[in-house]
Amino acid sequence: YDDRDGNIWMDGQLVEWRDAKVHILTHALHYASSVFEGERCYNGKIFKSVEHSERLRKSGELLDMPLPYSVAEIEAAKEAVLKANGLTNAYVRALAWRGAGEDMGVASKRNPIRMAVAAWEWGNYYGDAKMKGAKLDIAKWRRPDPATIPHAAKAAGLYMICTMSKHAAEAKGCSDAMMFDYRGYVAEATGANIFFVKDGEVFTPIPDAILNGITRQTVIGMLKDMGVKVHEVRINPGDLEGFQQCFLTGTAAEITPVGQIGDYTFEVGELTRRVATDYEKLVRA
Ligand code: PMP
Repeated sequence: YDDRDGNIWMDGQLVEWRDAKVHILTHALHYASSVFEGERCYNGKIFKSVEHSERLRKSGELLDMPLPYSVAEIEAAKEAVLKANGLTNAYVRALAWRGAGEDMGVASKRNPIRMAVAAWEWGNYYGDAKMKGAKLDIAKWRRPDPATIPHAAKAAGLYMICTMSKHAAEAKGCSDAMMFDYRGYVAEATGANIFFVKDGEVFTPIPDAILNGITRQTVIGMLKDMGVKVHEVRINPGDLEGFQQCFLTGTAAEITPVGQIGDYTFEVGELTRRVATDYEKLVRA
């Protein structure tokens, strides 16, 4: 994967794909001092690009590692990467981390904050069966208390339990896992937000312990424009019984209908299909 042609933007310049490397004593590798973004470029334009750049900077601030690049500089870096690699439909990964330096302990103020942007072609996150309804496992790991880790940061450290949950899900033949939060309320999937439909109205968790996804916010706006009632509420495990439809939202996942979570089943209904179609139109507009 690393030995291929192409260019990656690193610390202010484009470098050869195969030369985009870091030292083994990189602080982030030892202590998860790393934040990132996942973005999608459609027909030459990154959807909500500025929002992603802003979130990257905010994630850095939340982890006490302010990025040395402005939103405009990050925007320019992404443009440069897409152009250098001749990509018009692609997934874009921006990453910022504490590098190697004077400090090898937990405190790392003397180590440089570094940044990179890569982009590549990436199709459906859940494969070709996307519109058939994904099967979700119920994760044993819970989204942590915001007093434990800043939940609004898209921080690498938050993803360890996601990786473990997704591995466990895949071992059971599921494509993802739904996670509860530290209180036991329905939270999100390992890389996407979750929505439910009941009698034409939409229910989704309050984003007080989850990532308030850019796609999530877009979809809530779309639904409200359609005149659909959206309830941001606490969802108990037992509430799953009463929901008729379920879908995931995320930059990579886009709108992915869910057919099953544990023993609960859902139909890929009309509202879910409409959200998927309208989102597809919006990102390509
Ligand atoms: N929750 C988690 C844990 C995620 O990793 C993502 C993907 N960034 C999302 C939700 C969806 O966020 P967005 O719509 O901004 O991609």
